[in-house]
Amino acid sequence: MANKASPPVPEGRKWCHGCETALPVERFAKRSCRGRTVSQSRCRPCLAKQKQEQRVAARERFASWTVRYVPRRKRVGVPEELDSALLSLR
Ligand SMILES: [Zn+2]
Repeated sequence: MANKASPPVPEGRKWCHGCETALPVERFAKRSCRGRTVSQSRCRPCLAKQKQEQRVAARERFASWTVRYVPRRKRVGVPEELDSALLSLR
């Protein structure tokens, strides 16, 4: 049950949903899913980029939560410039 259709690709290649290109299967990382080994739907660079974006998004969510609920003197892990940037949004 694929949630997004891939266009037909030549044998030994796989469609990357990140850069939308048919790439050799070696360019994809493997992961295990319910005891089976499946390859990722994005190539290694796209996966790294996606993870980086998720990390940045998580940090921003954490920072905005902290700015709202934690007094300034008790805050940890929020960079000063991000702190001021979020405060100026309000
Ligand atoms: Zn890719």
